[in-house]
Amino acid sequence: MLKASGITKSYGNLQILKGVDFEVQKGEIVSIIGPSGAGKSTLLHILGTLDKPDQGTVALKGTVVNKLQGDLLSAFRNRNIGFVFQFHHLLPEFSAIENVCIPAFIAKTNKKQAEIRALELLDLFGLADRAQHKPNQLSGGEQQRVAIARALVNNPSIVLADEPSGNLDSENAAALHQLFITLRDNFQQTFVIVTHNEHLAKTGDRVVSMKDGLIV
Ligand code: ADP
Repeated sequence: MLKASGITKSYGNLQILKGVDFEVQKGEIVSIIGPSGAGKSTLLHILGTLDKPDQGTVALKGTVVNKLQGDLLSAFRNRNIGFVFQFHHLLPEFSAIENVCIPAFIAKTNKKQAEIRALELLDLFGLADRAQHKPNQLSGGEQQRVAIARALVNNPSIVLADEPSGNLDSENAAALHQLFITLRDNFQQTFVIVTHNEHLAKTGDRVVSMKDGLIV
């Protein structure tokens, strides 16, 4: 599903990624762990086309994304990659269902279809009765589940999550990771998850450890 080869990245004189090779199969949950500053988020951003490597290639479903630019890159990202961050980044003035629909509207899905898909996901996540709630009317765990529904609304090839449970208590964190497993089992959804939580990392299929800009 995803193959990154020979990824390097520097900021100024500081080499952050020193030649990373990384592969993910369809339906696989890969966790990336490692000390703070190891380069995990930088790698995730490059895998997600939010940042460009200095050297190396990233291919998603056979498309080399380095070559895409501008609107083409944005459209590719919108359709193929879902993002979940530590903080949900839901838009406060919009309801849960509206937040979930936004990437579908950007993809020019018609309103009715987008809403049906959004409600399907919210229902699957036990949030059907929260669809009209604004983010500040939801608990932390509920907000993160809405963020995951938003990441999934366009049926992306891969979901990239950066410390998705970092802001949750242990019970909600475990529930969130269980949700990833359910999505893998039922829909063959592919995930790359950066996490500090080694225990939760091990609930996935594979754990990749990073240190000083390399996979170790
Ligand atoms: P991790 O996610 O493993 O904690 P990061 O990928 O966030 O590590 O960061 C790795 C290193 O790169 C850190 O030392 C950080 O300060 C540096 N870094 C990350 N992004 C930038 C940037 N945009 N400009 C300069 N330095 C950066």
